[in-house]
Amino acid sequence: MSIMRSLLLAGAESAWLRDRAMRTPFVRRSVSRFMPGETLDEALRACRRQRDERRTGTLLTRLGENLSSLAEAEEVTAHYLDVIDRIAESGLDAHASVKLTQLGLDLGVDACEQNLRRLVTHAESRSRMVWIDMESSKYVDPTIELFHRVRARSSAVGLCLQAYLRRTPADIEALMPLAPFIRLVKGAYREDASVAFPRKADVDEQFFRLASRLLGPGLPAGTFLAVGTHDAQLVGRLQAVIAERGVAPSSYEFAMLYGIQRPLQSRLVEDGAPLRVLVSYGEYWFPWYMRRLAERPANVLFVVKSFFER
Ligand SMILES: Cc1cc2nc3c(=O)[nH]c(=O)nc-3n(C[C@H](O)[C@H](O)[C@H](O)COP(=O)(O)OP(=O)(O)OC[C@H]3O[C@@H](n4cnc5c(N)ncnc54)[C@H](O)[C@@H]3O)c2cc1C
Repeated sequence: MSIMRSLLLAGAESAWLRDRAMRTPFVRRSVSRFMPGETLDEALRACRRQRDERRTGTLLTRLGENLSSLAEAEEVTAHYLDVIDRIAESGLDAHASVKLTQLGLDLGVDACEQNLRRLVTHAESRSRMVWIDMESSKYVDPTIELFHRVRARSSAVGLCLQAYLRRTPADIEALMPLAPFIRLVKGAYREDASVAFPRKADVDEQFFRLASRLLGPGLPAGTFLAVGTHDAQLVGRLQAVIAERGVAPSSYEFAMLYGIQRPLQSRLVEDGAPLRVLVSYGEYWFPWYMRRLAERPANVLFVVKSFFER
């Protein structure tokens, strides 16, 4: 892992830096490249723009991590219930994407499960889905366990898995009988080499192998893969697999973050490939933003440029 990436990921965990950066106007300006605004209304407007630009659909995430009370988890759950209603009322092909720590995972697995079930039941009644984000490695076991339990009763739930983790091939095989909806990503957290591949080349290869596996053939009917990467080379290799195997567009989609690799997003749309864009919003954007900078340290240049654009 590069020194810059390590520093940025360490910075994502610093409360001192967070408090200062969130009040600094030029940092706030540079964030707008990846986040259309802090409010749900702004995020929904961005979803409509994505639709106008012929993206298949969107995902909505309110940023926020590690709560300190179940009352906060209740507030987050109520917020997402409202998000699902607003999406359904506006007719958008959009789903909610949530972090289980925001639903109270650190405070009690049972309470978290109840909150997740409420969201999934509500989403199903509105013909929408709930996607579960994957957080740092200590959360992988409880996250998969809760996904398993909720998926047993409803198919309106999907799970994010990270290709950088050594354990992910085994996790995928164990989930296969559920005909799961999986979003495969590389992984955005600072992890020890004992749990995650430190070399990008190894992560890329594992991503390709796992995505190829999840594109079939021979999978339980209903299995679905969201290919969550902006890596043009991987996208190209997987498009070749999709074409060669004749994978139906109902079995997969590409998924990218708002504002990242826009030319690649447009190319996929021109190719007629299904593409969903994740739109983040909310006031608690600092750790998320630092992870975006760590994914491409050249982005730090945009922060510097924003400083001079006063
Ligand atoms: C839809 C979606 C959902 C995600 N959900 C999760 C999750 O739940 N848990 C989790 O751990 N991670 C999640 N991620 C983040 C993911 O783990 C990676 O950190 C992120 O996607 C960067 O890796 P990459 O696959 O794009 O490839 P990289 O190899 O990192 O990048 C490939 C190319 O894409 C471009 N690029 C990548 N990132 C940026 C950026 N920030 N700014 C500008 N250009 C960039 C660069 O040109 C780079 O060369 C999600 C990503 C997506 C797309």
